[in-house]
Amino acid sequence: MSETIESLLGEGQSFPPPAHFKKTARVVDAEIYDEANADFEGFWARQAADLVDWVEEWHTVLEWDLPFAKWFVGGKLNASYNCLDRHVEAGHGDQVAYYWEGEPGDARAITYAQLLDDVSQLANALKALGVGKGDRVNIYLGMVPELPMALLACARIGAPHSVVFGGFSADSLRDRINDAEAKVLITGDGAWRRGTIVPLKDIADAAVAECPSIEKVLVLRRTEQDVAWSDGRDVWWHDLVPQQSTNCAPEPMDSEDLLYLLYTSGTTAKPKGIMHTTGGYLTQVCWTHKHVFDLQPDTDVYWCAADVGWVTGHSYIVYGALANRATCVIYEGTPDFPDKDRMWQIVEKYKVTILYTAPTAIRTFMKWGAEWPEKRDLTSLRLLGSVGEPINPEAWVWYWKTIGAERCPVVDTWWQTETGAMMISPLPGATTLKPGSATFPLPGIGADIVDDNGKSVAIPGGGYLVLTRPWPAMLRGIWGDPERYRATYWGRFEGKYFAGDGAKRDADGYFWLLGRVDDVMLISGHNISTAEVEHALVGHPAVAEAAVVGKTDATSGQAIAAFVILRNGFEASDALVEELREHVAETIGPIAKPKSILFTEELPKTRSGKIMRRLLKDVSEDHALGDTTTLADPSVVEGIKARYLAQAPDEA
Ligand code: ATP
Ligand code: MG
Repeated sequence: MSETIESLLGEGQSFPPPAHFKKTARVVDAEIYDEANADFEGFWARQAADLVDWVEEWHTVLEWDLPFAKWFVGGKLNASYNCLDRHVEAGHGDQVAYYWEGEPGDARAITYAQLLDDVSQLANALKALGVGKGDRVNIYLGMVPELPMALLACARIGAPHSVVFGGFSADSLRDRINDAEAKVLITGDGAWRRGTIVPLKDIADAAVAECPSIEKVLVLRRTEQDVAWSDGRDVWWHDLVPQQSTNCAPEPMDSEDLLYLLYTSGTTAKPKGIMHTTGGYLTQVCWTHKHVFDLQPDTDVYWCAADVGWVTGHSYIVYGALANRATCVIYEGTPDFPDKDRMWQIVEKYKVTILYTAPTAIRTFMKWGAEWPEKRDLTSLRLLGSVGEPINPEAWVWYWKTIGAERCPVVDTWWQTETGAMMISPLPGATTLKPGSATFPLPGIGADIVDDNGKSVAIPGGGYLVLTRPWPAMLRGIWGDPERYRATYWGRFEGKYFAGDGAKRDADGYFWLLGRVDDVMLISGHNISTAEVEHALVGHPAVAEAAVVGKTDATSGQAIAAFVILRNGFEASDALVEELREHVAETIGPIAKPKSILFTEELPKTRSGKIMRRLLKDVSEDHALGDTTTLADPSVVEGIKARYLAQAPDEA
């Protein structure tokens, strides 16, 4: 399945931890893997005791009634206490928790002491609105500091939150609120995005009109345009929150109490309400954040450039980052506002040391060109991270060279909304990196690659990625649908969690993620993964980004349809189409040659930046488009469809 990967490995690129990095790294040798794997429950119990403050000790580390897990049973704790109070009590109240950079250029620095006061006031305000322990609160905001505050305020009073990304439509918001039966919605007048206002309140009003469970809407003023008002239901944040007491005792929560619901991105199917609980989740997000990013809380400035609206933000902007007392940067807007060096300007301004972003962003930066980062001083950086999709080796190497100046290890972190925390990822002081590989399961994590019958595939070899043991941050289910939980994740291979992703292990046992198994194409009897063909295309100097799907074809079973974004300075032409087809044939083999290539300015992506191949498949087969509610910009796919049909009417 993987000549491409083979050929990349053939280049022999591997990167041992740099000596300067090892000098201060938290983990420098591999013993920790053996120690954790010898007794994974004991390993996680030690981390829970070390990293998390408990109000009451647990009596049982793990209760495992497949597929239902309970971790640290009997333990009591509060996540917001772990993120805030304990740092202030330990004398770190003056340390900055968040440097916030507004898109228009305004900025705030919020210390741990200030954040604790703000969160406590908001928690009291929620109580005043009738929110009690166990009530769900929906949150629909842009990237303002009040967004993490809202999560923490909910956690403080034991009200599970359900955050909906601030770019989703009224329908998406409505469906998620109704699924969670939330009592209160926290939103704002608007959010800044590329210099214009996203009218959050208008969208929220349209949603809430069809949400019978919502009693109150708390509205933050940010963009200051006039908004419609529903007396009795709507409450201004600035009227209610500042008058509250800054004392709010954190509610002692059971380790297995629901901390939050979060819906998956919907790349492959309709979003599912993923349930995360408190004690195990906090343990694993803390451990991974500290060790995969090698966090040094007294000196690092850490920037996870994701949005709090998806799981990366929950785990690594809010819970893991704050529980570890990180100083974090958060940015409100888009990376090209006012210009394409905004990210790098922020790195320079705050002297960011750790940067965590997504392959889709990295490929966009590649497309824009090195001149943008080159304008800025990036010498503060010491570690780079990637998440969200397989990172193609070209993008990895570009990131490592152009952003990291060949000095910063790049950690590719594989995980999912469902896993809650990182699962397959390097430890940067100990792991020799290979560009494009997420390397190995983290200590304590059991992962394997199996065939159709669930049998472990010999090394080297590829198949389905599965997780072989429970892990502390694992999802506890799908909200309201335990059977769907069992069937989706545990139904395919007996006793194993099936992640939905294909993967391969090379001769050294490194894991290479190959994308969704739904995205594996069957071409003339051969399995070819979309990721392989995409990697081959992106390996051509003209190509910035590529998405590939298999469309039904009378002769070959499936034929490959490719959608390609060119790099700056390259022109679309028939000759280039031929050149790219040849390039794929040379890299993988003639069988993988795309039948059609459409040049496009954009690809359909979720708000978290993932390509939605299922929609491109609908385009290529001229079907009605499937669920587009989680698309960043639904017009993109309509545009592609029109051009696809115009270019290849005979093939549609
Ligand atoms: P849905 O489950 O609704 O289809 P989704 O899977 O896109 O949506 P997420 O939970 O945000 O929702 O994404 C997890 C998926 O992202 C993983 O299953 C994997 O396919 C991909 N992914 C995340 N990180 C990596 C990575 N480092 N390398 C390869 N793939 C990754
Ligand atoms: Mg998924």
